[in-house]
Amino acid sequence: MGKGRSKIVMLGAPGSGKGTRAKIISERLSIPVISTGEILREEIHKGTDLGKQVKSDLDSGKLVSDETINGILKKRLSMPDCENGFILDGVPRTLTQAKYLESMGIDIDYAVSVEIEDEKIVDRLAGRRVCPNCGRGYHTDMFADSSDELCEDCGCKLAKRKDDEEETVRERLRVYYELTEPLKDYYEQSNKLIKVSGDDKLSEIAKNVLRAMGLD
Ligand code: AMP
Repeated sequence: MGKGRSKIVMLGAPGSGKGTRAKIISERLSIPVISTGEILREEIHKGTDLGKQVKSDLDSGKLVSDETINGILKKRLSMPDCENGFILDGVPRTLTQAKYLESMGIDIDYAVSVEIEDEKIVDRLAGRRVCPNCGRGYHTDMFADSSDELCEDCGCKLAKRKDDEEETVRERLRVYYELTEPLKDYYEQSNKLIKVSGDDKLSEIAKNVLRAMGLD
């Protein structure tokens, strides 16, 4: 794959490492990552009507309605930075959303599925921390003590996402298998599916994902 127009979808369970890989591909191809989860968390943070409407869905690990997500997608994808391509992280999550993209005339080039076992996900998300200021992600494994959990970039105290509590993680996984996993077949049927391991060592992630996409 060259540096031309690229429309990429990241698939994979919550906590599989889609976001990390999306960022690596985004830097390599100079195209934006669009995360509907990030957009929704920002709306909640700002206290907008949309934020108030979706808060309970996010807190409980349920999906926000297709109608809401499709509206967000339409607006975001019409922005100029999407002209040369984009990486969709966490969207589409249902067949209706995938078909909505098609109905907008968007022909996805690749769907990258990040594959990992459920138990590793539960473990990983229990230790996931995020900088509330810049969004950089961490794992508690990196720190000897919880008082060390500060962002290396901006020094803020790291936070745990409410939906990373174990019970909510299990609900998010259930929803993933019911509604999102079938999208793998959907993209496989049109030869767009690329599978990558979500279990690579930190030092191998970039090399492996870029190689799988023919970008190294
Ligand atoms: P994420 O950051 O991608 O794990 O998303 C966090 C939460 O935002 C999800 O558990 C859903 O409640 C909501 N969400 C994000 N993207 C979507 C989507 N494409 N469809 C429905 N709900 C979504």
